[in-house]
Amino acid sequence: MKDTFAKSIDYIKDCFGRPDFIPLHIPNFWGNEKKYLADTIETTFVSSVGAYVNKFEEQIATYTNTAKCAAVVNGTAALQVGLRVVGVQAGDEVITQALTFVATTNAIAYNFAKPVFVDVDLDTMGMSPIALENFLNEFGEKRGDACYNKKSGKRIAACVPMHTFGFMCRIHEIVSICDDWGIPVVEDAAEALGSSYKGKPAGSFGQVGAFSFNGNKIITAGGGGALVSVDPVFAEKAKYLTNTAKVPHKWEYVHDELGYNLRMPNVNAALACAQLEELENLRQSKKRLYEEYKTFFATTDIKLREMPDNSDWNYWLICVELENLEERNAFLEATNSNGVMTRPIWQLMYRLPMYQDCQRDAQTNAEYLEETIVNIPSSARK
Ligand SMILES: *Cc1c(COP(=O)(O)O)cnc(C)c1O
Repeated sequence: MKDTFAKSIDYIKDCFGRPDFIPLHIPNFWGNEKKYLADTIETTFVSSVGAYVNKFEEQIATYTNTAKCAAVVNGTAALQVGLRVVGVQAGDEVITQALTFVATTNAIAYNFAKPVFVDVDLDTMGMSPIALENFLNEFGEKRGDACYNKKSGKRIAACVPMHTFGFMCRIHEIVSICDDWGIPVVEDAAEALGSSYKGKPAGSFGQVGAFSFNGNKIITAGGGGALVSVDPVFAEKAKYLTNTAKVPHKWEYVHDELGYNLRMPNVNAALACAQLEELENLRQSKKRLYEEYKTFFATTDIKLREMPDNSDWNYWLICVELENLEERNAFLEATNSNGVMTRPIWQLMYRLPMYQDCQRDAQTNAEYLEETIVNIPSSARK
């Protein structure tokens, strides 16, 4: 094993004060989690009605500086419904990035729409506004208020940029390009709660934003997600669709379109409320870990990825950049077989059988990052 790899393994184990096994990312329950959970059981409000779920929605809307929030069962559902409320329909296309977690593209496919992949920026690892603009200049055609793809003849009904590991992509530029072309933006901020760009929170840039509170994210609801919007109409519609599209009535069951049962249960919201209170503590702890890593990796030939300019990072998952695929594989092998859990960035979406035939641009940056980026243990420490 390379000397730097052995040194890194020892260092990471020291950081967490454990010689045996260091997981990639664990949840931490430092606050009112048990108290709020017990409260849902004592009051019997564990399911889709309850005070915590309403409170959580209000707090997320406030935290993200958006008009309204709809809490749902997971981040994938938030994206799926978000795409539907901005008007994505069967047969449409949705522009996104191939360097993402599969949920982003699955949410598009659940709406019977097809993903189209544009490249990412090297520094942010999120959608490149230049790649987006080039793609639209080559293939986009405005017809009335809508944008069509000249190659496929299909409508481009939305754009889904993603903030990789909580690093903000150039979301302001992406939104501005999409505005010019009449394309709504669904911001996949699943990994980015607590990140911001020039003081503006992740999730508040697009027509709608989606968050995840899965067990591996910066805060968790066990499982959960949220859709936010600066336009209350979108969030209201999402809330209604995820509550079986039930028309309010004192006793009648009237559902006037195809809805879903995707509302976040109160028991999950109780956990989420307690976790949200801890968000800043978790973030500060992860920031300290990042600073320690920074000092250490400066003494090695492994490059720690840094936060892009102007943005504020939630430090969700810290990552390093290896020299090439061979080095990356050697690093993954050395760490994982010696009790330090590390993971490569995702395989690009067009390598998966479901998305092989999707249109895409050159993907030069995405392919470079696919071969070189590895996440290292990033949990908050007490
Ligand atoms: C986690 C994640 C999701 C989906 O969230 P779930 O709550 O797991 O459904 C979507 N997009 C990205 C980029 C994610 O990391």
